[in-house]
Amino acid sequence: MSNLQITGYKCKHCGRIHYPRHEQCLQCHGREFESIAPEGNATLLAYTQIFNLPWGFDERFLIIGVAQFGNGIKSMGQIKAESLDQLHTGMQLRPVWEPVRYVYGEPVYGLKLEPMG
Ligand SMILES: [Zn+2]
Repeated sequence: MSNLQITGYKCKHCGRIHYPRHEQCLQCHGREFESIAPEGNATLLAYTQIFNLPWGFDERFLIIGVAQFGNGIKSMGQIKAESLDQLHTGMQLRPVWEPVRYVYGEPVYGLKLEPMG
């Protein structure tokens, strides 16, 4: 999924992957990182439903999840599901880069995760 505008940072010393970027590696305190892109589908690690959305969202609620990509990048994204009943941890999600909300009529793009199967 090279069109995903998410960059992970892999420590050149110990290989730990960070997303978002940190000044220092959380594991070895190294300061040199290599940029990597998420690869493949993602595995759902955790999810929740949020109400009282900020201005700019049309939906009544959103389902937000944390997913881990094949190469270790973890990211939070909006899950394309109607209810929590459709979800379980460990399921596979397809990452898509789509407008997540509109500000002054302009789309703001972000990560969405689409349940597979
Ligand atoms: Zn490190």
